[in-house]
Amino acid sequence: MTNELDMESLKSKLLKLRDELQKIEKIGNEAAETVELDQSRVGRLSRMDAMQAQAMSVESKRRREIKLQQITSALKRIENDAFGFCIKCEDEIDPKRLEFDPASLLCIDCANKAEK
Ligand SMILES: [Zn+2]
Repeated sequence: MTNELDMESLKSKLLKLRDELQKIEKIGNEAAETVELDQSRVGRLSRMDAMQAQAMSVESKRRREIKLQQITSALKRIENDAFGFCIKCEDEIDPKRLEFDPASLLCIDCANKAEK
């Protein structure tokens, strides 16, 4: 085995992350409903607050969805023995990076380029 990654622990980490995100997602949806209810009986100023809060929750929801997709891909890549390799350049991803974020699909170089 050339791969020294502990797949089992990475996999359970990913599953735990996915669980947490799905839990937050559920709470987030309930919070969004509360905002709508409040809107019908509050003034303009707090309505703006509510809209701002909603915009923020939309943004964090979008982030969560991206993360969930990454986790799903990472889990699929574990099944296919492709885990730990960059999806762009196919280089090995630094194990420390995977330890920190097992849902990383890009090596550090490609991730840096993607952020620009
Ligand atoms: Zn790469």
